[in-house]
Formats: sequence, C-alpha cells, structure tokens
Amino acid sequence: MDVVVIGASLSGLTAAATLLKAGADVQLLEADTYIGGRIRALRDPIGNRALADLGPTWVWPKYQPVVAQWLETLGLQTLEQFNDGDAVILGFGPAPVRQPLPGQEGMVRIVGGPSALIDALVNRIGHDNIRKSAPVVEVSEKGPEQLAVRLGSGEAITARKIVLSIPLRVAAETVELPWATTALIDAMRKTPTWMSTHAKAIALYERPFWREAGLSGRIASRSGPLVEAHDHSGPDGSPAAIFGFVGWPPDIRRRDTDGLKEAILNQLAECFGPEAAHAMDLTGHDWAANPNIVTDLDLSAPANHPDVGPAILRQAYLGGRVRFAVSETSEASPGLIEGALAAGEKAAKDILARIGD
Ligand SMILES: Cc1cc2nc3c(=O)[nH]c(=O)nc-3n(C[C@H](O)[C@H](O)[C@H](O)COP(=O)(O)OP(=O)(O)OC[C@H]3O[C@@H](n4cnc5c(N)ncnc54)[C@H](O)[C@@H]3O)c2cc1C
Repeated sequence: MDVVVIGASLSGLTAAATLLKAGADVQLLEADTYIGGRIRALRDPIGNRALADLGPTWVWPKYQPVVAQWLETLGLQTLEQFNDGDAVILGFGPAPVRQPLPGQEGMVRIVGGPSALIDALVNRIGHDNIRKSAPVVEVSEKGPEQLAVRLGSGEAITARKIVLSIPLRVAAETVELPWATTALIDAMRKTPTWMSTHAKAIALYERPFWREAGLSGRIASRSGPLVEAHDHSGPDGSPAAIFGFVGWPPDIRRRDTDGLKEAILNQLAECFGPEAAHAMDLTGHDWAANPNIVTDLDLSAPANHPDVGPAILRQAYLGGRVRFAVSETSEASPGLIEGALAAGEKAAKDILARIGD
C-alpha cells in the first residue's frame, strides 16, 4: 500500500481523493461505523435524502478559496442562509423582543449540506478503499521502507506513507505514536477540537410558518436550552426546519434528554408561537458523546475558536513519511471546513512530492 489515511472525514477524504487522482494506491481506515466525522446529516429514512445538518452548516466561499474550488470541482451549489424578517431576542429583558439581526457577510449553505461534500468525495474514492469500524491504535516504523498501522482488533497493515486525519487530542490520547516527541504530543494535547463539545437540535415542521409572521427563524437567547437558532429549511422552504445550538452543559443534557426536548419545544413556542411546539420531528446530536471526536481535555475546558496551531503540527515525521491532516492543523481557517479541505489537500500534495522517495 502506498498510503494509509487514518480517519475517513473531510480532511482524510480530501487527502485520499487527491492521492488517488494522482495514481497512488490508498486505503482509508475509519474508527466509526459512519463516514464523515464531524459532518453528519439527519437523513430521510425513505430515500436517505439529507434533511438537515447535525454538524457544520455554513461556508464562506467568497472568502474561502479552497471551499470555492472544491465546490466547483465536485459540482456542488450553495444557497443563502434565510434571514429575512425579525429575529427573536430572548432572556435579555422581561419579555422576548423582535428585531432584525444582520447575517454574516458571505456566509452560505451548501445544497444538500456539507454531507454533499462527503458523498461526492466518497463517490470519487469508492467504498472499496474505505474500511469502517477500523480504529487505529498504533502507528510505528517497521523499517526504512515500511510503516506499520495496528488496529484495535490486533490486525497489522503496512504502508509506505501515512496521513493521520484524526482530531489531535484523540490521537494523543488513544493512538500509540512511539516516534512522537514530548513536544509534539504536548502540542497535540493543547489543540482543542473545534465544536467537539457542542450539541445541535433540529425541529422539522410541515411548513416554515414563522416566515409568514415576518420572523427569520433566528433566536439569540440567554434563557432556555437553545443559545441560538436559525432557519434551516431547504432551498424552497421544504423541508421546513429550525436548527439550534444547545447551551446546556454536556453532563446535564445527557442526564435529562426528555427534559431537554420538552424545554426546546417550549422555547421554540415562546419565540415563534404555539405551532412551534408541534414539530413533526425533534432530533438532537451530541458531539460531546463521540469518543472519536471529543476527549476529556475538550470537556474540561470548552474552547474559543482555534488559533493557527504551531508549525510542529504541520511538519512531516519519520523522514517525510507521516503527516497530520485534520482541520485544526491548517494555517487557513483552522477548525473549519475550509481548514479540513486545505489540510487534506496539503498533506496529499506533500506526500505526492515525495512518493518516489
Ligand atoms: C456542531 C458543529 C458545527 C460546526 N459548524 C461549522 C460551520 O458552520 N462551518 C465550518 O466551516 N465548520 C464547522 N464545524 C467544524 C467542521 O465540522 C470541522 O472543521 C470539520 O468537519 C473537520 O473535519 P476533519 O476531517 O478535519 O476532522 P473530523 O471530522 O473530526 O474527523 C476525524 C475522523 O477521525 C476518525 N477517527 C478518530 N479516531 C480514530 C482512530 N483511532 N482510527 C481511525 N479513525 C479515527 C473519526 O471518527 C472521524 O471520522 C462544526 C463542527 C460541529 C461539530
């Protein structure tokens, strides 16, 4: 095997697609039963259509050249984030207040959600090159020509080059890297995984009734479980949906999922009227419960938006044969979709430049 890519998510898939296009022999190993990492969609049980984003939603292609280029390469379209009308501001005074809140300049959604990026990359790579339920527990040197990857099952796989596309803290805590210096492990531990402690809630409705009342679907709140919410409906308003970020801490939301659901519906009704309490479906996704994404370090001190990490995370190791490529290693937009695409692409190009070594 020329290259083993560890982690079948946006950065790993981007690296693999770039390597395969250049003719390299590539295998992806993914710990989860699911492909996409932090990118995941709520899917229609009939037809499997992506209905809503459980992970990221927005990209800024006007300011993110790598996103713009990959959207074009993969033939994906964008749609505006619906923001017409008033937002509801809750918990800043005795009663909810309606007022317009400007959206972010250049911020758009991807038609089909960021999962469309994952699906398009997987189509290029082919399912045969991706192994799910294959957690890697060790990456070591076998000799001057060979690296060894050990899976949790004990199985060993050899490769000439390796791309580690897993969150840096997860790698530092769960994968043995006998060649890694203390300084490298320290830098990995100090790099929080962006949004890994967050949870999202999606309410699906028959129609976007809040729009009829001149509301944008946006909530900014200091009371109730949702700290912010947005219209998340499809391009023509269908499926009609609101998504919100849950502000309750991970231990409390895990302990009382029924109470959380009830509190979310009450909050939506307070903001958008009684119809909002009767969602066709209310789904949550808690990233803080996914050990392939989050670590205790992330949970002990939830992070602000990541800074550009130190150069030690972007260096090549074992004579140029091992590289990290996860969004947080990128110099451009670390922690974001742009960072994941850029990190995957860069790792692949660096490896291709040395593939004959
Ligand atoms: C709720 C939420 C909202 C977000 N909103 C936005 C947004 O609006 N815009 C934006 O740009 N970004 C957003 N982000 C960030 C964005 O999702 C990430 O930057 C991006 O998806 C990271 O991709 P990645 O491939 O670098 O890493 P990840 O998606 O973290 O992938 C790591 C992969 O490694 C796998 N793995 C872990 N351990 C092992 C192991 N031992 N062996 C094999 N595989 C392993 C994991 O299962 C996973 O598939 C959001 C994230 C979340 C969670």
